[in-house]
Amino acid sequence: MVEPFIRNHHYNFIKNQADIVQKATVSVSDPKVLEAVRYSAESKVLNAFPHGTESQKQLLKKIALLKEAEDFKQYLSSLLPYVVPFPQVTEKQIKKLFPKNKKLKVPDLLTLDYQSVTYLGWMDIATSKLFIVYPAGEEIVGIEGKFTIANRKNTCSLCHGHGEVALFSAVTKTRIAHASPDYYKAIGNYICTDSAACNKRITDVAVLERFIHDVTGRAITKHGT
Ligand SMILES: [Zn+2]
Repeated sequence: MVEPFIRNHHYNFIKNQADIVQKATVSVSDPKVLEAVRYSAESKVLNAFPHGTESQKQLLKKIALLKEAEDFKQYLSSLLPYVVPFPQVTEKQIKKLFPKNKKLKVPDLLTLDYQSVTYLGWMDIATSKLFIVYPAGEEIVGIEGKFTIANRKNTCSLCHGHGEVALFSAVTKTRIAHASPDYYKAIGNYICTDSAACNKRITDVAVLERFIHDVTGRAITKHGT
């Protein structure tokens, strides 16, 4: 039985590493250098799964053996059944996360590519609000904030891609010790306006999880890295 263990951001990371190896197979003539590139990709990929089982490691390690363009394609598609899809959420569940937004527009869940989603993100132009939904352990959490479209292209804090971004600012619920009762702090992050593209690029969830933690004041249950 196939047990999914690769999250979307892991898959993007493996894909990047496979791209590096593939480029090296074409451009590097020194076998020793090529070997080093293969070894580096293998260790980086394995390091992303510190709790991986022996069979999972065997599967991932194949990255070091890929030679032809077809091998790379096959390797990446052989991993797809192991990708953990975004949890099946209903419109009702999402609306419940944002009770203050009576006319909340929810993204089209029927056409959503659940396998390529780390977080659900969408903007409501009418209210200038940006919403993020993220699975935190067994739960699904939602954060909302105001957004302003940046005038110029910038680096997204979540995927580190350079492109059209919006400054997403939210008020944090975490209080510093001995703060006055009206203490609040706004925190902001540049985030891709194209959420699907961002989800295809994101290789690390640390910034996203910290941001959600800062806004909600809740610890994100770690599952994997
Ligand atoms: Zn992004």
